[in-house]
Amino acid sequence: MCLSSTDGFKPPLTHPLGPILALILGRAQGSDVCVPCILTLCDPPLIPPLTPHDGTLSCGDAGVSVYPPIAAEVFFMVPKPVLVVSKCLGFDNCRYNGQSLFDTFVESLKGHVNFIPVCPEMEIGLGVPRQPIRLATVDKQPHLFQPASDRVLTDAMATFSSTFLAALPPVDGFLLKHRSPSCGPFDVKIYEGVSKTSGSKRGAGFFAACAMAGYEGVPMEDEGRLKNFDIREQFLIRLYALTRFRMAREEGRMRDLVAYHSTHKLLLLAWNQTRFRACGKIVANHEHWPVAEVFDRYEDSLRKALVVRPRTPSMINTLMHAFGWISEGLSKEETAYFLETLEAYRDERVPLSLLLGLLKGYAVRFDEPYLLNQVLLAPFPSPLMMVSDSGKGR
Ligand code: SF4
Repeated sequence: MCLSSTDGFKPPLTHPLGPILALILGRAQGSDVCVPCILTLCDPPLIPPLTPHDGTLSCGDAGVSVYPPIAAEVFFMVPKPVLVVSKCLGFDNCRYNGQSLFDTFVESLKGHVNFIPVCPEMEIGLGVPRQPIRLATVDKQPHLFQPASDRVLTDAMATFSSTFLAALPPVDGFLLKHRSPSCGPFDVKIYEGVSKTSGSKRGAGFFAACAMAGYEGVPMEDEGRLKNFDIREQFLIRLYALTRFRMAREEGRMRDLVAYHSTHKLLLLAWNQTRFRACGKIVANHEHWPVAEVFDRYEDSLRKALVVRPRTPSMINTLMHAFGWISEGLSKEETAYFLETLEAYRDERVPLSLLLGLLKGYAVRFDEPYLLNQVLLAPFPSPLMMVSDSGKGR
């Protein structure tokens, strides 16, 4: 961490960007922002440009320094995630009332992902239409039943879930039906007993809980939460990051993993600095593990790195790193505009995608290969970007 080297630094307020720097540096204290990277932005620079201009990152990069990244062919293909989806989300009229649900986001994914639709309730023999089923806890165990018929469905659903999940090809994510006692991953009503008067708590549906247990670290969301812009953006970023990793893994060569790490450096740095360093060490492979084991270790660390959404200071630190690659070519006004936009992002007045778009534009303008190869600047296909927002931070 390079922050300590500039502890106590006060930017001269007579400098054209002094007030903005003072604001950012003031906020940087106690955050992960890499101050030297900020100081190179000024015209004239307050300090000379430091790395990353030599092809490595200046902050906390314990990983391999591969620049330009090996252009593995997999990164020039448009990745197509494999997504398990609840069948009633526009694939079949399989809801208890014989209907299906139209969801704009699911529709937008068609053509971009390979869906594996599934309706667990149909698969265990419940017809359409059917009486609703309930999830309860009995003797501390999940209990699935149909109150109208007193039919207990627990064993049938457990058998189907384990059989179905075990037979799946490698999958990159799950998009399931909101609040369903079978499919809902979050916020499902779970009764504390089978009587009509039982109290309830919230948790995962039966099938979703089995999927979570078997696919730790794989993105799983429901269509309700994905109406939130931020949750949707994070879901897509994770989904496509893991899809690209699966593609690299399918190639199976060390150079594919090196290329993956090189192109995902900024993304990993934003999400989790500690895991970013760990991934770098795994790729460096000083222990000389077999390639398959290197992929296993990397995948484990990658999944854990992406589970928790990035903190704003960590993302800002990363954006400043990226900006360091092109800042020398920008006018004072352009630099000031970028920094103002960064502040707006910090204050949650603009989305991350706005800053990524700015950086991508600068990278194209200066034909900056390091940035153009960073997937963070275009983490998923642009047609999937939707600006709609539920306004609920579900
Ligand atoms: S929520 Fe799941 S189980 Fe219920 S109808 Fe939809 S796909 Fe079938």
